[in-house]
Amino acid sequence: MSNMKGVKSVRGNGSARLDADDDPFDDGLSDSSPRCIEFQGLVRREIELLGEDVERQGLKKTPLRVAKAMTWLTRGYEMDVVDVVGDAVFEEDHHSMVMVRDIELYSMCEHHMLPFFGKAHIAYIPDGRIIGLSKLPRIVEMYARRLQVQERLTEQIASAIEDVLRPVGVGVVIEAYHLCMMMRGVEKQNSKTITSALHGSFRDDAKTRDEFLRLAYGPSTPLR
Ligand SMILES: [Zn+2]
Repeated sequence: MSNMKGVKSVRGNGSARLDADDDPFDDGLSDSSPRCIEFQGLVRREIELLGEDVERQGLKKTPLRVAKAMTWLTRGYEMDVVDVVGDAVFEEDHHSMVMVRDIELYSMCEHHMLPFFGKAHIAYIPDGRIIGLSKLPRIVEMYARRLQVQERLTEQIASAIEDVLRPVGVGVVIEAYHLCMMMRGVEKQNSKTITSALHGSFRDDAKTRDEFLRLAYGPSTPLR
């Protein structure tokens, strides 16, 4: 996920400086749109309320950068499941569990507007239709790029897959770290929040549920 394009110089102390004109979020919002201008005013005021000098060199372009970053990080509001899935649903006579594990996700908690991040594991049992596998991470992305709570995010992903595929069952597990907990440093440094949503046979059939949860909670590669 690192964008080395933005790194202009590396100082002796190892810290890299991002050039304001080479912003990684610079593709979501036009600088001169009314929305962007109003957003910048709010961020400028926020910086003042923090007791900082908005005219200071390093902060001068921060309102614009924040407006763009927040727009980019919540761009899921502009997407809907029909567009995301497109025509990637196929008739297929497959009746066993299909699972995609370790889908990276980055979201923002709606209580503090701070990031939470982790992995989603998704499985379903088809009923005559399958979905292009690359669409599952895109469904995750669509709902993660909003202000969220992890519980709702998990449920929305499961419901979207159910709506699109009408499968025999679907299960979603998300494991995530919440910066609002970690940054306060209150004995929550390594606590991971795990949520699940189980629909159809994943809820009603103990064997299916057990198989899914065993696969979802099994050993995986560590978070990068
Ligand atoms: Zn929070």
